[in-house]
Amino acid sequence: MSDCLFCNIVDGTIPAEIVYEDKQVVAFRDLNPQAPLHVLLIPKKHIATLNDLESEDNAVMGALILAAKKVAEAEGVAESGYRTVINCGEQAGQSVYHIHLHLLAGRQMQWPPG
Ligand code: AMP
Repeated sequence: MSDCLFCNIVDGTIPAEIVYEDKQVVAFRDLNPQAPLHVLLIPKKHIATLNDLESEDNAVMGALILAAKKVAEAEGVAESGYRTVINCGEQAGQSVYHIHLHLLAGRQMQWPPG
């Protein structure tokens, strides 16, 4: 989708610091990091929110989680720990309507989240 920020990162028209890419997934550093490590992982396919997932998206969402594991290992936080978050909709604070998984690490996380 040409008017989607994250689709534009996938196709290279908007720059990002890409840390991982495979056939289905791109991962890049968040512009406004909320932890020493803050990476966003997105499917290359445009899917607006978790509510828009279809059964055919099973594989790509699996690939997204597996990519998060690989990024955590590559960034050296797999053992110390990391948080993954997918915000869905307004009350969750979703601001970009292309599914993205936040991978946050490098500081002690709190629970419950704000
Ligand atoms: P959410 O609030 O869950 O929709 O998360 C959207 C995230 O995208 C926020 O953490 C933003 O800082 C991040 N973000 C917005 N624009 C960019 C961009 N051009 N490059 C990297 N991260 C971005």
